[in-house]
Amino acid sequence: MDEIIRAVAGGGFVSIAAISSRGLTERAKNIHKASRVCTAALGRVMAAASVFGSAMKRDGASVTVRVNGGGPIGTIIAVSDNLGNVRCCAGNPEIELPIRLDGKLDVGRAVGKNGTLTVIRDAVARKRDTNVISEHGGAVFNENEPYSGSTALVSGEIAEDFTAYLAESEQAGAACALGVLIGGDGIVRAAGGYIVSLLPDAPEDVIAAVERNIAETGYVTSVLDGGSAEELISRVMRGLEPKILSRDAVEYKCGCSRERVASALAGIGKKEREDIIAKGEDVEVTCRFCDAVYTFSPAEIKKISVN
Ligand SMILES: [Zn+2]
Repeated sequence: MDEIIRAVAGGGFVSIAAISSRGLTERAKNIHKASRVCTAALGRVMAAASVFGSAMKRDGASVTVRVNGGGPIGTIIAVSDNLGNVRCCAGNPEIELPIRLDGKLDVGRAVGKNGTLTVIRDAVARKRDTNVISEHGGAVFNENEPYSGSTALVSGEIAEDFTAYLAESEQAGAACALGVLIGGDGIVRAAGGYIVSLLPDAPEDVIAAVERNIAETGYVTSVLDGGSAEELISRVMRGLEPKILSRDAVEYKCGCSRERVASALAGIGKKEREDIIAKGEDVEVTCRFCDAVYTFSPAEIKKISVN
């Protein structure tokens, strides 16, 4: 079962959210027919998006993460609801690259690093999925407008990029580790990671302990392969008396529906719509986040255009 566990430690100066997301990463791989390297990229982005999303309080709130590094995978988008249920898509999820010299999947090359990591927090429910990213500058948070922050990518390896994002855009002392391990049979064996946040006035010995623990923990997938998110917390918070605050199940979940697709179709151009009607054939719309296919007859298209 995929889950997010949150804990505080080090006398309240440190908080950690750890996620184990093997199942939802495997689901994304199957929906998008993703290659190994792209599964790893999508899995890392989704794990972070899910942790961000699950921190949103209100029903209908969402977090969208966009990674646009100029690499062959294209733009990656992951969207999480306020419970941490997440979905994703990418421009070219099927591209494969040679394994790196150290035996790791070359996520950095697939993603590229000439671009940005953008996080959009939307505190209110939207009537339809626009997935059109509007850029809102400044730090003024208006509840009715999505809040968006963006930083330059560091390596395209995702975890480093999120660490930089948290430091630069949200001024948080934070460390992020993410990983996806794929077995020889092509099945995801382990996925997930953690985000550790330190309060600005955290004592030196607490900071030192966290840094030491992070170094000793190493790759998150070596803990998650056969282990759990809770084990990740006990390793990274060793000696700091972690107290678990919450434990929430998460999954790959798409909020698409016939109504939402119909309202998106209402936004296509008049000419395009007239062409569809003139052709007299059913139109199949496949959701970009899941494998749902919606079929509309020319008569229905006509009706949508009237509304
Ligand atoms: Zn869908």
